[in-house]
Amino acid sequence: MGSGIYHDIGVIPAINGLGVYTDLGGSRLSPTVWRAMEESNQSFIRMPDLLDSSGAVIADLLHSEAARVTPGASSAIALGIAACMTGPNARFTEQLPDTTGLKTDVLIQGRHRYKYDRMVRHTGAQLREVGNINGTDPEELEAAIGSSTAAICFPAHLDRTPGTVPLEEVTEIGHRHGIPTLVDAAFLNYPLDVMESFASKGSDLVIFSSKYMGGPNTGGFICGRHDLIGAVALHDFTRFEASKYLSFGRPFKLDRQLVVGVVVALQEWLEMDHEQRFRDYARRVELIKGQLDGSSGIEATPMCFTMQETLAPEPVNCLHIRRESDSSDPAAIAAALAADDPSILVHQMDGAIVVDVECMSEEEAELTGRRLKAVMSPA
Ligand SMILES: *Cc1c(COP(=O)(O)O)cnc(C)c1O
Repeated sequence: MGSGIYHDIGVIPAINGLGVYTDLGGSRLSPTVWRAMEESNQSFIRMPDLLDSSGAVIADLLHSEAARVTPGASSAIALGIAACMTGPNARFTEQLPDTTGLKTDVLIQGRHRYKYDRMVRHTGAQLREVGNINGTDPEELEAAIGSSTAAICFPAHLDRTPGTVPLEEVTEIGHRHGIPTLVDAAFLNYPLDVMESFASKGSDLVIFSSKYMGGPNTGGFICGRHDLIGAVALHDFTRFEASKYLSFGRPFKLDRQLVVGVVVALQEWLEMDHEQRFRDYARRVELIKGQLDGSSGIEATPMCFTMQETLAPEPVNCLHIRRESDSSDPAAIAAALAADDPSILVHQMDGAIVVDVECMSEEEAELTGRRLKAVMSPA
């Protein structure tokens, strides 16, 4: 340890026992994705062509009318909402975030407020909460639609939260008034058929993040209606360079290598043997557990750390570890692991340590198990 590119730059590399987090650099790119990105580095390409063609490939894979790569799901929210505000009028793409003459309101249910709804306001749009934290009913949602409504924003992972109007009903209400629904399905990519389910429930635009399918941390895409994806294209950086309008989306620039990485990661995700993926997680969990077995007083249970950051029995992707005595101090254990080089990052949850193995190699899992044993064994 103590050598390598990260040390040269002055940071200590980490073993990721937390899972896919933007702050940790997203996912680990597969050899296939990395090779494709490397290949794309060898030659130049016209970016407008690459964006159009890669969008067509993604649309084909997901049986969507149209699609477009974006630098992550967050920017896809901003670009998608901008498209809903301006439609095909290229002149307006220069005007944002000045909303004079445009529809400015984006509706969201009270119990659907979530951190990424911040991206809606990037465009100059106003987020209008319908109902409140206690819930929203369909009549309230319909009554909130007016002449300045541009879109409805719908975080798919919060669908069917008690007290909310479900997606099918939201899109139906929207369509009665000609209002599109933009769905954030950033991590809803498994089982695979869930990815196409949002369009079949009437969503006009659906966004996904590449970071949750082994793609680049700064990659994502938006799929949906042809006319709206066309408007997304008017807003994005390609038009800033190529058209006479200085489009709003210029900061959401993409590398050609990134675009290729997003496409190949999606292809790989759709073709992958996911049962094998889960067996790989279970094996890494067993490698950690194997190091701890036989240490007296340590209880280690394979579990599932969910996307909502809760624990469930399966599918196994983490190890839940606690000392049987009440004296265990997870904060001190986590701090000791984090102070290593490489730093080992783990969750602390209700008096226990939780190690998520999704982003670990087998070697890293073994090392983590050995370090856990050393740190947790009574002195
Ligand atoms: C991670 C995430 C995003 C943002 O995606 P990026 O690709 O990192 O921009 C948006 N919505 C949800 C639900 C997410 O989990």
